Formats: sequence, C-alpha cells, structure tokens
Amino acid sequence: MSKHPQEWKRFDMHAPPRRQNLVLWPVTWLVARAYCWLHREKFKKERMEGLKPPYLLLLNHNCFYDYASMTVAHMPHRPNYIISVDGFHGFTTILKLLGGIGKRKFTNDIYLIRQMMRVKQHGDVIVLFPEARYSLIGTRALIPEAVGKLVKLLKIPVVTVHMQGHHQTMPFWSQKDRFLPVGETLIRQLFTAEEVKALSVSEINQGIREALEYDDFAWQQKNKVKIDLPTRAEGIHQVLYQCPHCLTEYSTRSKGALIYCEHCKKEWELTEYGELRALEGETEFSHPPHWYEWQRDNVRREVEEGTYLLETPVLIDALPDSRKFIPLGEGKLIHSKDGFHMSWSYLGEDYTLEKKVSEMYSCHIEIDFHVRKMSCIDLSTLEDTYFVYPLSEASNVTKIALATEELYKYYVGNVETGEKSPHIST
Ligand SMILES: [Zn+2]
Repeated sequence: MSKHPQEWKRFDMHAPPRRQNLVLWPVTWLVARAYCWLHREKFKKERMEGLKPPYLLLLNHNCFYDYASMTVAHMPHRPNYIISVDGFHGFTTILKLLGGIGKRKFTNDIYLIRQMMRVKQHGDVIVLFPEARYSLIGTRALIPEAVGKLVKLLKIPVVTVHMQGHHQTMPFWSQKDRFLPVGETLIRQLFTAEEVKALSVSEINQGIREALEYDDFAWQQKNKVKIDLPTRAEGIHQVLYQCPHCLTEYSTRSKGALIYCEHCKKEWELTEYGELRALEGETEFSHPPHWYEWQRDNVRREVEEGTYLLETPVLIDALPDSRKFIPLGEGKLIHSKDGFHMSWSYLGEDYTLEKKVSEMYSCHIEIDFHVRKMSCIDLSTLEDTYFVYPLSEASNVTKIALATEELYKYYVGNVETGEKSPHIST
C-alpha cells in the first residue's frame, strides 16, 4: 500500500560512517585491478612516497569505470566514499559495507563535514568526486569554491587522480562500457598538510582545478586513439541537442557513426579519431565540446535576455531511501529565472517543490535512466531525491543542466571563485 510521504523511510544521513569491511577490501582491489587491466590502464604516481592516511582523494569523473581506477589509486589504504543517495540505488547494502557516505546531490549538507571529520579520526581516505556528476562531454565540470574551504577545514593532504579517455570508453550519453584502452592515470599528492595550511582557499582551488583539467576528445585526437566502433556516435545527440546549421533545438538524432538533424537533414560523422565532420558543406564544430559550449552560449543569451523558460509535464519518482523509487505520477515542471517549480498530487494531496536559482549551481541529469529508460533531471532536498522525467518533446535534460549553471552564474555569481554577480539573485 502506498504510504504518505511523511511515513516514508528515509536514508539515514547521520549514521556514523562505517569503516570499509575488511573482507571486501581485498576483493574490491582484485575486481578493480581486473577491470583496469581490461582497459589497459597504466598508473603513474608522483609525490606519493611515504604518504599515510588520512588524506583527501579527489578525482575527475566520467563514468562508472572511474570507480575501478579510484580503488587502485587509494590501495592499500582504506577509504570512505561520498556517494549521492541515488548512487546507492541497487547497491545499498554493498556500498554501505564498502564505506559509502550518503549525500543528496547539489544540496548544502552540513552533516557531511561532520562525517568527513569522523573519517579523518579513523585515519582513512576520504574519497570525493568534486565535479559531483559525470562529465557530459568529456571535459571538466564546475568545481565549487567550497571544495577549497573543505580542504582548509580538514587540514589533511590532498591527492588528485587525473584520468584520461574514460569518456571515450564509457561516454555519458551512451553509458555502455566499450572496453577501450584508456590513457595513463596520474595519482599525485597535490598538497601536503603543511602546504594546505600555508595556501589560501583560492590557491588550493586553483591547484585542484588545474590538476583535474581534462578534455577526453582532445586526448583522443592528440594520441591518435582510433575508435572504429560502427555505433560510436549513438546517443551523442542527447548532449548535442541543437543543430548548428539551422539552429533548431531538439532536432538532432544519432545513428551509427552519424549525428544528424531531423529538421534540415544535415549530417555529421564522428570520425574514428573523435572529430566531427559534416558530410556536406561546412563543418561548424569539429571538436564535440565546442558544439556543446556553443549551446551553452545560446542558453546564456536566453538567460541574459530574460527569455529562458521551460514548462513541461513530467513524470516524478521519489527516492527517500536509496532502495526503491516511489512513482508519484505526473506533475508539472517550470524552470525559469525563478529556478525550479514543480507541482504534483499524490494520494489526494497537492505538493510543490521550489528550488531557487541560488540553491543549485548545477543539475544532475541522467540519459535514458534504466528505471524508466527515459532521460531525467534530479531535484533534491535534504530529505528526498526526485527523479523528474520531462515529457514535452520541446525539452532536453542537457539544456536544463546548462540553463541551471547559466542562471546561477547570471543571478548569483561564479561558483568556482565565489565572485558575486551584479544582478539580483532570486
Ligand atoms: Zn538542422
């Protein structure tokens, strides 16, 4: 029987972090080693001699496969991972045994700091993906200023893990592992505890961002990594949703090695070396991230002109605990300069969820999420996670993510530097 939302069992964010299970500890290492071997991943270490936990391990983030590299990177030390509640879905028991600490995505959770302090007291490794989501096009996502503040608070060494080519083996927009060889991974002690003490927050942030900078398509092109999979472009239209030729939105599709526009019929091939090439006429963007950033520029213009607006019916699933999504049925989502406004009815009662522009500097999205085989966005409060599936054909979750970031920049400021916007925040 359906329960009232007040009676839902919720993920316990305050339970003290468990140290990683000692039986599973070597098992994860063996599985991770095998997984990395299949991708012919090589590891290089810098300034790591004699380093003992506690330390903070920061990694760039492209795909599920990153977790294998992560495990190799922190071995033989025991870790605790910061994982979003939806990340636990389907793996709750095992992730708790492995030392997972729950968080709701893009929410300010002060308990998280307390949890990390406990891991420090245990003398273990705190593992964090500071981009807080998979990269949509193989380039670095935003790393908020708060990461540097956290480093100052923890007063422990910082190790960065820079992975390359993971987007190519498992692109966000296809989510299938192609088992391709990846680039060399650099594990580096970026800052010792003494350096953390001496540096300012902005110097720490700058160092972290530089250490985790990446562009996996540029890596592929530079290293002449050949991907001759006949289906290599399938799914890429989910993140390249606007046609650069006729400027129509939501008109792109992909098949085989091609991305094309249903409106003007223009076609581009994703070459074996990761470049785009128009089959006829001008190639607007040969580098896929440039096409992606051009879309961002267009969204930014809508934000600046005050015309950005999305209004769509949505399907809503709630994830109060991590074990089971609760279908709430159909609702309505508005995204505008006032942020997100979602409304729905459940068991005869009306509900609304507001997320102001200032509350979210970015938005977690999923492409063809396995529960419904549809794309969705994630709106979270401290108590609940909602997976929200837009039903309008005139919508795209990548555009919603770009708009969330551009609205924040325009009305709030630069999340990486803390610089405030001159515009009024909503
Ligand atoms: Zn077109």
